[in-house]
Amino acid sequence: MQIMKTEFNIAVFPGDGIGPEVVAEAIKILKIIESKLGLKITLNEAPVGGAGYEATGHPLPDATLDIAKKADGVLLGAVGGPKWETIDFSLRPERALLGLRSSLGLYANLRPARIFPALVDASTLKREVVEGLDLLVVRELTGGIYFGEPRGVGTNDKGERHGFNTLVYSEPEIKRIAKIAFDVARKRNSKVCSVDKANVLEATGFWREVVTGLHSQYSDIELSHMYVDNCAMQLVRNPKQFDVILTTNMFGDILSDEASMLTGSIGMLPSASLGEKYAMYEPIHGSAPDIAGKELANPLATILSVGMLFKYSLEKEEPNVWIEKAVEKVLGQGVRTADLMSDGMKQVGTKEMGDLVAAELEKMN
Ligand code: NAD
Repeated sequence: MQIMKTEFNIAVFPGDGIGPEVVAEAIKILKIIESKLGLKITLNEAPVGGAGYEATGHPLPDATLDIAKKADGVLLGAVGGPKWETIDFSLRPERALLGLRSSLGLYANLRPARIFPALVDASTLKREVVEGLDLLVVRELTGGIYFGEPRGVGTNDKGERHGFNTLVYSEPEIKRIAKIAFDVARKRNSKVCSVDKANVLEATGFWREVVTGLHSQYSDIELSHMYVDNCAMQLVRNPKQFDVILTTNMFGDILSDEASMLTGSIGMLPSASLGEKYAMYEPIHGSAPDIAGKELANPLATILSVGMLFKYSLEKEEPNVWIEKAVEKVLGQGVRTADLMSDGMKQVGTKEMGDLVAAELEKMN
């Protein structure tokens, strides 16, 4: 008989700007679930980003990385701010994100874009286009043109200055990200759309070939292929045709931002970055220095990230469902943070939003 694990270590990296504010609300939610499920979750907090730089002179202190490596999952707020915009590039807060992704081998970025019924009218698209939208972008995160070699700025054979990057994907890199997409599709609506530019780029023609090959092991999943330019268009024309979108690092970077805007506010979207051994969960937004410390930040993206942490790292499915339901209930009561405000709604601050979701969660069994 398999013994269910009940004790976990979670690394908590609040970071900068609104990071600590939204993470504090997410921790409230995590603690409620801990007690509901009778778990023992140890939280290890450490500075990262600008906070890491202030504490140690480096945005990703060794001790912080060490805590991440010993954890069952990392919960991150956000990093960055004007205070650190003039320091050396290698020490900027944002370097901590790249450092965490590469040191932890986080090659798969999962970004769900789901519209809550109460927020349908907050989208810039028409109600009928977005109502019921629930898609997931699976983006390759540690390969492709952002990392390929050779890269740089130099001089070509004609003596002209030029800039160049390399788009390269190995078969194992493609297989492991495609496997994640097929596996998560099995827990959703069993559809994967692999997005490439196979008509122009050999590397993504190869991507298509490898994804198609792996699909033979997933006959229960419907696989389709789409060129990235068409996908960009289909996301605003008919986004509900998608279940899981599987794509490369650069295409995923762009398409996942486009998909996120279908749902209303950047303050609503969680994400998970997964590797073989480690995983990190964070809202997709940044540190929002313009609203930091003003009780204006929407904590829901970070709260929803906690749901993903339970689902993917702690192998507990229910908390994610409970959290989504609690958020839906609160929004259904007409309560909004400033970023979601519209006529007739009641505005609340960061803490109050966290408390309201916590209260709904407490009521569930
Ligand atoms: P941002 O996401 O921080 O903010 C963009 C806009 O959205 C701002 O108007 C902000 O007030 C608003 N916003 C963001 N999150 C919100 C929330 N939870 N609730 C309500 N409103 C919210 O992006 P930016 O302004 O381009 O960047 C600010 C800083 O964050 C920069 O230093 C940037 O490098 C950094 N950044 C960090 C991450 C990360 O940590 N993952 C991601 C993006 C940007």
